[in-house]
Amino acid sequence: MTWREVESLDREKTVAILPVGAVEAHGPHLPLLTDVIIANAMAEASVERLATAGREVLILPPVAYSSARYAAGFPGTVSIRPETATAVLVDIARALASQGFRMLALANAHLEPSHIGSITKAVALLREEGALAIVFPDVTRKPWALRLTEEFKSGACHAGQYEGSIVLAEKPDWVREKIRKALEPNPASLSTAIREGKTTFEEAGGPDAYFGDPAGASAEEGRRTIETLGTILAEAIVTG
Ligand SMILES: [Zn+2]
Repeated sequence: MTWREVESLDREKTVAILPVGAVEAHGPHLPLLTDVIIANAMAEASVERLATAGREVLILPPVAYSSARYAAGFPGTVSIRPETATAVLVDIARALASQGFRMLALANAHLEPSHIGSITKAVALLREEGALAIVFPDVTRKPWALRLTEEFKSGACHAGQYEGSIVLAEKPDWVREKIRKALEPNPASLSTAIREGKTTFEEAGGPDAYFGDPAGASAEEGRRTIETLGTILAEAIVTG
């Protein structure tokens, strides 16, 4: 969009959506930018539903960098401090509020606790300031998590069937198909490992930076999941 197009958006009706991801290893078959692709897809999938509800949408360029400590040992992962990530979100929200925007929604696809923590800190701070409404459906929690796939709910959900399917639907050319199809499933649950205090993918039983079943991914499942993510975001915005 151009600045004149943004200028003409009705501030009363417009919700600004910020996709949030990470630059992080996603197995030997998916791009480092996987979470950004997923966050963008989630944002875009919410637009039609929001239009039906009388909202206009401004999808912002994504925040690609965040805290990605679990994957820090894998080349190409770029992890920043959680407090930096919080500051980026707070500054973006303040900039939008100063232009008269009333609501900012976060479409987040990176699920690591230190990253989620950096978001919830920003959300709490911004709610306290009250300059604009903040919407953040945390898909790692109920009720949203229950709507996602079995693999997602099992916690073996990093670069496996769940995420691989979404990338296949959105950016099929970015998936290393020959490698993906040959990968053995890794049923180790990342969420269990996190609860047990493991702090890296290697410790959590993911020496190749993937969990779940990459070979089981399909564009068809990806399209369904993207629809679900878009619905979750739109519902959170309409009720938020
Ligand atoms: Zn991911």
